[in-house]
Amino acid sequence: MSEITLGIIGGGQLGSMLAIAAKKLNVKTVVFCDDIDAPAQNFCNQFVTGSYDNKEKISEFINQVDLVTYEFENIPYETLNEINKFKPVLPKPSVNRLIQHRLAEKDFVNKLNIRTTRYVSIEKKSDIDALEDFLPGILKTTTLGYDGKGQYPIKSSEDLNSLNIDFSKGYILEKLVKLKKEISIIITRFSNNKYEIYEPIENSHEDQILKYSKIPADINEKIFNQSKDWAMLIAEELKYVGTLCVEFFIDRNDNLYVNEIAPRVHNSGHLTINAFNVSQFENHVRAVCGLEQIPLKKISNAKMMNLLGDQITHYRNIQKFNDNEFFFDYLKKDIKEKRKMGHITTLV
Ligand code: ADP
Ligand code: MG
Repeated sequence: MSEITLGIIGGGQLGSMLAIAAKKLNVKTVVFCDDIDAPAQNFCNQFVTGSYDNKEKISEFINQVDLVTYEFENIPYETLNEINKFKPVLPKPSVNRLIQHRLAEKDFVNKLNIRTTRYVSIEKKSDIDALEDFLPGILKTTTLGYDGKGQYPIKSSEDLNSLNIDFSKGYILEKLVKLKKEISIIITRFSNNKYEIYEPIENSHEDQILKYSKIPADINEKIFNQSKDWAMLIAEELKYVGTLCVEFFIDRNDNLYVNEIAPRVHNSGHLTINAFNVSQFENHVRAVCGLEQIPLKKISNAKMMNLLGDQITHYRNIQKFNDNEFFFDYLKKDIKEKRKMGHITTLV
């Protein structure tokens, strides 16, 4: 029986599901979050709230734990690095620093000879004038974006005039891919060449927010294998420990591109809770805590639907679900438009 206490930075639904998985493994959890209403406090053993640069609160947090992981990538690098001096942080802070910057992330992926969308760094408005080749494109902030936040579709350089973009932040302009499909690979790396990898998951987005995920993905064998190979190469190259997600685009000519890497458990992997013997959350806890690696077995095909905003209300009122349906309510205090409030996985 383990005597480990795991610290988790971030207290949203991913933190909650990590805490639930940890409990099953007898790993205690302390969640640290800047939101006093963070839902993960309902599932962890201890909850500490404070801003991510509050030194006192951070020491209160790290004094209670053996090691630290995180549920989202936008934690200041300095914070993770400081914590790492006292308690191991996994995945390593340097991995997080690389991936939280879209430009550094894409440069890293290209160096591995893995295809990404075409991209260019934009530092000022006039940079876009000479970049017809990258249009139509999407202008994205280099840091702190999620769920399509900080993204602007650009058809021509004139579009910029109508948008009020703050160029004191760094941007990247990405050529728009004519999407046929999006998939993701979730992989948990334990140590050198030791992995558990899930099959490709097919994802559909609405307004740049994930809406549906399903397995099996409707893709050809080449893409099936290439996406897994690329995810393994990325995880190995990063010497990653824990669960990682690689998001991919497939264009209309069946070319595969890496869209982005998430150095954490991922929304598209929620269906692994019910569709596999070991979920992405349990695998993450196992890997970072140095617990046993268990070979993955698929239990069933599955589909997952995110419940955004007030869609949750209908599901909260259902008394009894079918045996193949699994409803998760994140217990968020306020319903907000487009906010991820819960999800439902159906085994099919
Ligand atoms: P986030 O960090 O918000 O998840 P992404 O870069 O993954 O940002 O973009 C969110 C979604 O927007 C993608 O999953 C995809 O549907 C769409 N998108 C983003 N970039 C492109 C692109 N270059 N071409 C086509 N679609 C894109
Ligand atoms: Mg994304």
